[in-house]
Amino acid sequence: MNTEGFREYGKKMVDYICNYRDNIQEREVAPTLDPGYLKKLIPSEAPTKGEDFDQILHDVENKIMPGIVHWNHPKFFAYFPAGNSYPSILADMLSDAFGSIGFSWASNPAATELETIVLDWYAKALGLPTFFLSDAPGSCGGGALQGSASDCALVCLITARARAIKKLKQGNEHIHDSVYLPQLVAYASKEAHSSVEKAAKMAIVKLRILDTDNHGCFRGDALRAAIERDVAEGLTPFFVVATVGTTAACAFDNLTELGKVCKDYPSIWFHVDGAYAGNSFILPEMRRFAKGMEYADSFNTNPNKLLLTNFDASAMWVKDVMALKTALAVNPLYLQHEHSSAIDYRHYGIPLSRRFRALKLWFVFRSYGIVGLQNYIRNHIKLAKKFEALVQDDERFEVRNDVHLGLVCFRLRISDQINRELLALINHSGKMHMIPAMVRGRFVIRFCVTYEHAVEEHIEEAWREIKMRADEVLKDAES
Ligand code: PLP
Repeated sequence: MNTEGFREYGKKMVDYICNYRDNIQEREVAPTLDPGYLKKLIPSEAPTKGEDFDQILHDVENKIMPGIVHWNHPKFFAYFPAGNSYPSILADMLSDAFGSIGFSWASNPAATELETIVLDWYAKALGLPTFFLSDAPGSCGGGALQGSASDCALVCLITARARAIKKLKQGNEHIHDSVYLPQLVAYASKEAHSSVEKAAKMAIVKLRILDTDNHGCFRGDALRAAIERDVAEGLTPFFVVATVGTTAACAFDNLTELGKVCKDYPSIWFHVDGAYAGNSFILPEMRRFAKGMEYADSFNTNPNKLLLTNFDASAMWVKDVMALKTALAVNPLYLQHEHSSAIDYRHYGIPLSRRFRALKLWFVFRSYGIVGLQNYIRNHIKLAKKFEALVQDDERFEVRNDVHLGLVCFRLRISDQINRELLALINHSGKMHMIPAMVRGRFVIRFCVTYEHAVEEHIEEAWREIKMRADEVLKDAES
């Protein structure tokens, strides 16, 4: 394709995107297809000769679109928000056009410097401790944009592991690091995201999965008791993960209690995962859940979940950047450059090559402003509260989580099986989409406000649909 072709089809594509998003409500939220649907529609080999672009676009509508789950649909209440927005889409387009891979300052100075600046903006907007800033006096910290919260968990765990092993070695440099692995123990609650378990599995370290209180909150006593047991057995606690906004129920762990326990054990790295809800600290009224963040060694939150930024973007801050570099830095000649004092983000994560992700975050902050982003999140909270009230008004239902942000976990006060059937019926209707979770031992349906322009009417319509389907399953259950 030449520039003229790109100009023509670029405009067509923008029109296609605008029409798609403006008329999205006319589509079913999620397809009801069987795996393998696409194999039947697409040839088994790539074309030998290039095809006409109109034909490709035609196939997008006819073959790809039927298999798309519409995360930007007003009736999409599943998972967490997709977080994309027009300014962010435009920034990604530009980043793709640059195709400039920023693994070191020299390989893309603008991407490197913008990432540092925007992560400082972001940390300040969330009211994070100043030790996470790159530009605060006395700070040794800083941030980096990773692809996902799972990456952040792994990177922080590996960094903590390297730091703990170094302390254990104490001069025994001839002993291989792996000898110390059986000694190390990490801790998280049973409500922590599965990415923590995956990180521990990849790093070959023990993970204690601990109980929460009745609100799904990981508390200091549970952590202290587990650590004391392990220390008595001669093990070394080295990593603790707290969650602000758990995946199942958006519960907030008690950072102050957990942080105080961690402080008593200098070998522990305290990581706070706020993949979704960490973004809500942009609201001063949500910062009550950030109390205790001063104990954290690292924190992550995904603007691609609640800050109107396209996947992929997960912001990670650490208090001690040197610890990251010690764990991850390798320095072959072909990556070295003459500005060795500049930041090289390849030392902050797993991949070498990195996309220019800071651009979309910069576009988002500038287009919406902090006030625009606050209004967006406050609207989600208001609508979740509205939904909670509607559920509570119908005595057949119950709400099973504390609703602080955009997520309501509800169920019929009847067997888990009937609730499973209710969810299946709703999802198969194509009119709404939600996912399940277990909250306090019961199957619940998660209703998460996700749509950027959500209004009360969307919530009321959704509730009418849910009640209608509930009538159906209850009638079937009676007969
Ligand atoms: N942590 C929490 C609390 C989450 O809710 C999620 C996903 O929903 C993750 C981590 C994993 O996020 P990612 O898909 O960015 O790896």
